[in-house]
Amino acid sequence: MFQKHTFDCCIHFAGLKAVGESVEKPILYYDNNVVGTLNLLKIMGKNNCKNIIFSSSATVYGAPEKMPITENEKISNATNPYGQSKIIIEGILNDLYKADNEWNIVLLRYFNPIGAHKSSKIGENPFGVPNNLMPYVTQVAIGKRDFLNIFGNDYDTKDGTCIRDYIHVVDLAKGHVCALKNIMANKGLSVYNLGTGKGYSVLDVVQTFERVNGVKIPYKFAPRREGDVTINYADATKAKQELGWMAENSLDDMCKDAWNWQKNNPDGFR
Ligand code: UDP
Repeated sequence: MFQKHTFDCCIHFAGLKAVGESVEKPILYYDNNVVGTLNLLKIMGKNNCKNIIFSSSATVYGAPEKMPITENEKISNATNPYGQSKIIIEGILNDLYKADNEWNIVLLRYFNPIGAHKSSKIGENPFGVPNNLMPYVTQVAIGKRDFLNIFGNDYDTKDGTCIRDYIHVVDLAKGHVCALKNIMANKGLSVYNLGTGKGYSVLDVVQTFERVNGVKIPYKFAPRREGDVTINYADATKAKQELGWMAENSLDDMCKDAWNWQKNNPDGFR
């Protein structure tokens, strides 16, 4: 790629991303995510492309006590190898910037992206059994899976299920466009949360999906999943102030768009 073209900036999305799988396969996660990033940085540096936007994750915050989470929160306690791989990469990028401040770096800490493009042409099509909540829900709705396992109903939350900050994938994508404009105009290393600032429980998601789409999602409560934190939602003020970005879609939109995609692509992209 770098031999054929010149690039102003690289948005580094590539990485494995399933929390549960990372607990079972830590070497795979460190190898793919950390070594993959090192290889990319080496080739970028060699070709003098020193602008990078990196897909980090809210998992880097571990289990903080204060909600909502700001970017100033300590990031040393991820509860799983996936989050740990993101912490290591953020550390590498910080060190790289300290060593050579010709690099311009934006770290985007994603909360929980769900939903699909409104055209229903682009959606989430995991291989095998989905690890994440929304694709599992849509596969139950389409009849591919019999019921959803809800991992844990004994957490210290309003209904006992975990709380996350779900963000529409199109809002997340727009956050990258804003970050790209910013990185070309401002120098340095910056970190932004990309979330809505609102927390919803697993049961909120299931009930919203049922209400807006008029479908039933059978579910059973299952044991807690290793590596899950109880509550996680963003303070997204910094991205609003500095990038001029904020999430626009509601949980209703996310559930409608995810279902539209699955309905129009019952077998995914195959
Ligand atoms: N979850 C669940 N059943 C599933 C998948 C996920 O109950 O089949 C729960 C999970 O325990 C967490 C929330 O849904 O509380 C979001 O999980 P997901 O894997 O989508 O994202 P994560 O927060 O792990 O990045």
